[in-house]
Amino acid sequence: MSFPDITATLHAAAPGLRGSLEANAPLAGLSWFRTGGPAQTLFQPADEDDLAIFLRGCPSDVPILVVGLGSNLLVRDGGVPGVVVRLGKGFQAIAVDGLRIRAGAGAADVKVARVAAEAGVAGLSFLRGIPGAIGGALRMNGGAYGGETKDVLVSCRGVSRDGTVRAYALADMGFTYRHCGVAEDVIFTEATFEGRPGDPAAILAEMNDITQARQASQPVNTRTGGSTFKNPPGLKAWELVDKAGCRGLRMGGAQVSELHTNFLIAQPGATAAEVEGLGEEVRRRVRETSGVELEWEIKRVGLQA
Ligand SMILES: Cc1cc2nc3c(=O)[nH]c(=O)nc-3n(C[C@H](O)[C@H](O)[C@H](O)COP(=O)(O)OP(=O)(O)OC[C@H]3O[C@@H](n4cnc5c(N)ncnc54)[C@H](O)[C@@H]3O)c2cc1C
Repeated sequence: MSFPDITATLHAAAPGLRGSLEANAPLAGLSWFRTGGPAQTLFQPADEDDLAIFLRGCPSDVPILVVGLGSNLLVRDGGVPGVVVRLGKGFQAIAVDGLRIRAGAGAADVKVARVAAEAGVAGLSFLRGIPGAIGGALRMNGGAYGGETKDVLVSCRGVSRDGTVRAYALADMGFTYRHCGVAEDVIFTEATFEGRPGDPAAILAEMNDITQARQASQPVNTRTGGSTFKNPPGLKAWELVDKAGCRGLRMGGAQVSELHTNFLIAQPGATAAEVEGLGEEVRRRVRETSGVELEWEIKRVGLQA
């Protein structure tokens, strides 16, 4: 399938744009599930200014979606209309200033964790367990192994749909479990974290422990979106899924992981519809067996084919 090419209109609306605009850009390679149709337009801004110029000029009826490393994303088979924004090289810098780490929203969490560890800044090791980028960690209040983004964030910057750039203090973020209260249209561009003094060797050892624990308990090297459903208050999603008899359940090329029942896996050739359909079937079975309504943690985006 393909969408009408709107790149000429977008260029005309934002003269001087330095980033790249690509029509009908495949998205499957940009998400961990490796599924889904194209973006009508893929925009990779050069830097924060470029992003703001684009958003100021972009007609207000064009939908915009930002993606990070696609580790919490299911792109549907019909693709994503409008513009998909991806933050590339201009958003990947990481700088250390005492106990503070400033990172672009496109920097991989794993790299930020490593830079912090090498600089003797403790408290950010949990980022080693999250295979996304900083923008996704802000939007999802990403957390693992006892740490969460909200525990270490000082402030961040973002650009709203009308191109306004502003800073957000921690108190403005409205963080709750795997959720950020900042308006959905805001694209985060960078974040400043603060840790505490630590011994680099001890922090690196802690990160290695996290890596090993993840490898033992999660299907980390497969096509997955991580935890599919949020843990309901006081409950564990994986236990509810297991109790509903869904361990290993298949639908077409999609399967509930045998290793971790809150992970769905897309076998090569699986469609997004199969993955989403399997997730809905799991929700139905959990509702039937436990009376609990599981809520998707994975963001499902785009159109059904
Ligand atoms: C194997 C595996 C293990 C995982 N383990 C964990 C875990 O332990 N803990 C955990 O919290 N998560 C985990 N996840 C889920 C995922 O890694 C996190 O949610 C991560 O923070 C998503 O970041 P991303 O860059 O991949 O975002 P994406 O998946 O690309 O996007 C996720 C959401 O964030 C939004 N977003 C992305 N960038 C920006 C931005 N710059 N500004 C505003 N919004 C943005 C997107 O629009 C989307 O709504 C795991 C995933 C996998 C595949």
